[in-house]
Amino acid sequence: MHEHRALLTFDNRFLRELPGDPERSTLPRQVFGACWSPIDPTPVAAPRLLAHSHEVAAALDLDAEAMAAPELLAALAGNALLPGMAGYASCYGGHQFGQWAGQLGDGRAILLGEAINRQGQRFELQLKGAGPTPYSRRADGRAVLRSSIREFLCSEAMHHLGVPTTRALSLVGTGETVVRDMFYDGHPVPEPGAVVCRVAPSFTRFGHFELPAARGDRALLLQLVEFTIARDFPELRSDPEHGLLAWFCEICERTARLLVHWMRVGFVHGVMNTDNMSILGLTIDYGPYGWVDNFDPGWTPNTTDAASRRYCFSRQPAIARWNLERLAEALAMLMPRPDDLASGLERYDEVFAAEFCSAFAAKLGLRSWTHEDAQLLEDLFDLMHRAEIDMSEFFRSLAGLDPAHPNSEVVRESFYREDLRHRHAADLRRWLLRYAARLRLDAQAPEQRRARMHAANPRYVLRNYLAQQAIDRAEQGDLQMLHDLLEVLRRPYSEQPGRQAFSAKRPDWARHRAGCSMLSCSS
Ligand code: AMP
Ligand code: MG
Repeated sequence: MHEHRALLTFDNRFLRELPGDPERSTLPRQVFGACWSPIDPTPVAAPRLLAHSHEVAAALDLDAEAMAAPELLAALAGNALLPGMAGYASCYGGHQFGQWAGQLGDGRAILLGEAINRQGQRFELQLKGAGPTPYSRRADGRAVLRSSIREFLCSEAMHHLGVPTTRALSLVGTGETVVRDMFYDGHPVPEPGAVVCRVAPSFTRFGHFELPAARGDRALLLQLVEFTIARDFPELRSDPEHGLLAWFCEICERTARLLVHWMRVGFVHGVMNTDNMSILGLTIDYGPYGWVDNFDPGWTPNTTDAASRRYCFSRQPAIARWNLERLAEALAMLMPRPDDLASGLERYDEVFAAEFCSAFAAKLGLRSWTHEDAQLLEDLFDLMHRAEIDMSEFFRSLAGLDPAHPNSEVVRESFYREDLRHRHAADLRRWLLRYAARLRLDAQAPEQRRARMHAANPRYVLRNYLAQQAIDRAEQGDLQMLHDLLEVLRRPYSEQPGRQAFSAKRPDWARHRAGCSMLSCSS
């Protein structure tokens, strides 16, 4: 069959409609007046498909036979292009840790074009770790297996949790090593290399707009904005007068919804620089991210951010807003009345507040949300923090509480420390009594409440230590746990008999282990 039909069909609008860099080399350089630079992936020695996502393959109309095709593997490894593919790296800037960093760009991501499926849906394909580009600076453009497994697994896990995210089609081992100094402490070691093929309707970031704005290139900025609205927000195209403001408001709204999702599932991105913020409101760039185990608002997995904790769990919503303010500053150049952009930021605040309440109402099994409920939740957060209660385990177990006879035994498993469980037992009892009283105010059948709570509180999340165990085994050549995790995380809200090991809270050995509680940007 496949001799007659191309594996994928491409329509590369980003390349066709936006200006490109005339130079074709990996020479590090500043690129002006262009949105992309042509660049081919660098071939690897011995590519091997280690894992792939069935759902993403299906979305791209790639069946089992197509996934087994040698020419597809070659493309996913960066060894060859399929007909219609074209390699390019996009040009963007960004604010990193609060400072303008100038030009950044796709330093280890190479776009392969825009695949169109049978339903006419558009997907940008992007290889991460496929070799140097003009934006790689002194780095190698490669990625190690451990960080590639983390990106691959987490993007699929997030999707199945209902969190907007870029996707991952494939994880390919390169058969080559990559040298990394994991903790920047003078101990570089060779590690196995890998390439992930990421998939999203658009990989455009806030930083794509910030760079031409910072350079005063109004024409390029306008062209990129018009292109983005036309390709990625076609529903907004009808209104050129208010188009730009409506578009910014839409980005603010999507970003607000995204941040509520992160907060409700306990996800910490780790590096919320403006170059890691998707214009579509997707989770993008999985680096030193982590999942909250014991509830701690100040926790960040990123060792680079350990001192200032700019991107810790509780600050994420405020940081997203700060990032939107930087985007607004970039767009201001195109606005007759730049102050109007403030309404987008207000939209962010409103949508975040409303969605946060409904997300936590669902987590607590409440049918409505009142002022008193906000206090109930705040007191719970405070207790969970002091008593070091596991976030995912607690919310999941809470569904088992009988409002007529509230008993703290139902959440016993969510404690990490017996001493803290005893110390806070009375507080927990008091909180559960208040909560049970509140539940009794809602006319709701217990079964119905439990089902709603289970649909809002995942049983399985990609706990940091689980990802690390899958990595340790994969590095030894054993891919079973990687595949098991991928499978379990496809149904995170369902109890899966025999899979208790994948919902167990962090074991003691993982509390301070590299990869489990702390991660560096080195990937
Ligand atoms: P990140 O911290 O992953 O958001 O990356 C920030 C910038 O550094 C982006 O321009 C990346 O493309 C670039 N970068 C990160 N790691 C590498 C690497 N191994 N090789 C080349 N460029 C990289
Ligand atoms: Mg990035």
